[in-house]
Amino acid sequence: MSKEKEYRLSVDTLLVHGGLEPSGATSVPIVQSSAFSYETAGELEDVFRGRGPGDIYTRIGNPTNEKLERRLALLEGGVGATATASGMAAITLAVLNIARAGDEIVSSSSLFGGTFSLFKYTLAEYGITAKFADPCDLDEMRSAITDKTRLIFVESIGNPKMDVPDLPELAKLAHEAGVPLVVDATITTPYLARVKEFGADIIVHSTSKFINGTGTSIGGAIIDSGTFNWDSPKFAQYQAYAKKYKKFAFSARMRKQLYKDFGAAAAPMNSFLMTEGIQTLALRMERHCGNAGSVTGFLDAHPKVDWVNYPGLKSSAHYTVAKKLYGGRFGGIFTIGLGSKERAFRFIDGLKLARNLANIGDAKTLVIHPASTICCEFTDEERSAMGVSDDMVRVSVGIEAPQDIIHDFEQALEKV
Ligand SMILES: *Cc1c(COP(=O)(O)O)cnc(C)c1O
Repeated sequence: MSKEKEYRLSVDTLLVHGGLEPSGATSVPIVQSSAFSYETAGELEDVFRGRGPGDIYTRIGNPTNEKLERRLALLEGGVGATATASGMAAITLAVLNIARAGDEIVSSSSLFGGTFSLFKYTLAEYGITAKFADPCDLDEMRSAITDKTRLIFVESIGNPKMDVPDLPELAKLAHEAGVPLVVDATITTPYLARVKEFGADIIVHSTSKFINGTGTSIGGAIIDSGTFNWDSPKFAQYQAYAKKYKKFAFSARMRKQLYKDFGAAAAPMNSFLMTEGIQTLALRMERHCGNAGSVTGFLDAHPKVDWVNYPGLKSSAHYTVAKKLYGGRFGGIFTIGLGSKERAFRFIDGLKLARNLANIGDAKTLVIHPASTICCEFTDEERSAMGVSDDMVRVSVGIEAPQDIIHDFEQALEKV
């Protein structure tokens, strides 16, 4: 093999070029078509039976979605990817492609609210039991595993707890138990790390956040590392798939069964917006991380701020693991404590630049009071396991000039 063939493009370059054809349109074409026709009945039969390539119907596959899928698979080093209608759709399908009624999953207790609700309440109605444990306590995670466990699920950085599980250690734990490690890497993005290299077998993203980058559309993705051996008595539903598709078994079952049957495909227009947005991910993440460092430095020294929780602060219990895994970049999200709900509300009401809304990963600085909004339906106990307190404000730092964000926070703190 020539040297040229072995050369591997870096993530920064794949963000821009990954999956594009060498000639033709330089932006991903939006194929806004529900279905795809063939001249002969035989050709369409071949596509349906998988004997020939081709698209059938956008719920099953679409050329625009495929461009996003290819770029994400390249970025994560995966053997396949599936673009879904939202991050929640990606998590739902990823879990249901592995666990079935009667099975258990072991999940981090530090989760995005929607994921917690899915695992604790919705999946329970369909016979899948989630056991929650602190993902940074390996013994607690280990004791949650039983012979019914079918996967371990964690967020690369917990939203909004800002804890940073040691993924290589968790991968070891999962693999010793004969189950895959599923990682929601929304907060770190493929730019901070390729979590496959830490042992993640299945990776999910809410592409609505940093990948889109400008808050223009909802989407999600599931990436299959191709690392897990599904030919195991624990996964009876994979018997035929593992034999036929080998390391593509998860992706094949996803595409042929769950993606098609649940109907949670991404909209092609949204996938186009994701492929536009993702091109600047490296630049934006550098700025998000830099701004988060500047703003947390300011807030940490401010007398009206009780505490700042950001893995990039040396005071964080997660600093060491975060530094080891993510190369000194700590993401764009952090939380602060202002003493009480009333003071947190006054701070939010006093902001002039930062937006008060339920989202993260936008180019704009965003804030929210999680306890009264995204976590308002949970019990006090559940909120506390998720790291949500009454005095807490979550900040998703944008890419504005850092002095302007600091100025906005400073004038709002005067009103607290
Ligand atoms: C937003 C988010 C999700 C859900 O994604 P949607 O696109 O809103 O469905 C899942 N995980 C994390 C960490 C998130 O921040």
